[in-house]
Amino acid sequence: MEVSVADHPLIAHKLTYLRDERTDSPTFRRLAEELVTLLAYEATREVRVEPFEIRTPVASTTGIKLAKPKPIIVPILRAGLGMLDGMVRLLPSAEVGFLGMIRDEETLEVSTYANRLPDDLTGRQVFVLDPMLATGGTLVMAIDYLTGKGARDITAVCLLAAPEGIAHLDRELAGAGIPVKVVLGAIDERLNEKGYIVPGLGDAGDRLYGVV
Ligand code: URA
Repeated sequence: MEVSVADHPLIAHKLTYLRDERTDSPTFRRLAEELVTLLAYEATREVRVEPFEIRTPVASTTGIKLAKPKPIIVPILRAGLGMLDGMVRLLPSAEVGFLGMIRDEETLEVSTYANRLPDDLTGRQVFVLDPMLATGGTLVMAIDYLTGKGARDITAVCLLAAPEGIAHLDRELAGAGIPVKVVLGAIDERLNEKGYIVPGLGDAGDRLYGVV
């Protein structure tokens, strides 16, 4: 597993305001979107492209465009939805699939409750969006689900991660032999006893959409 932490003052600055408990939901949503666009720049470094010919007003030249099949972006509901617009801004022609996963707050077990994805993901580059890599349970399950549909080129984009979650994901993926790339805004100190990232930013879904 390849982990890359985006090291940029603008990312650290936006993350600070995202963490601040005084930041309201509209501001939180805007900051999350902006952060994802910055992380998407790193996450799409190896997006597949193909050459094509164009004419400038001066001469002919060869440019590049996204190769087919187009990449697919998969936000994990509900909090991953808050990252979608920021990612689509950089990859407007990508397809979008959805995966609904929920974590039991008592047992921390993760289960899938919805999916809207192509049956076959063979040959597709998949970008999974989940703001918080906490225990790693959600991402392990999502990646397992996607590889079950044939995906072999998966990049996860997360705003924050806990070292425990990264280690768990790494252990699980080593067995599966699937090279997954993880792009992060920051790696925090630890998980607390409730499975929250410390210092973190609280419940990302609640901060994006309110407590429902
Ligand atoms: N999910 C969240 O929204 N926040 C955490 O800190 C951990 C998991």
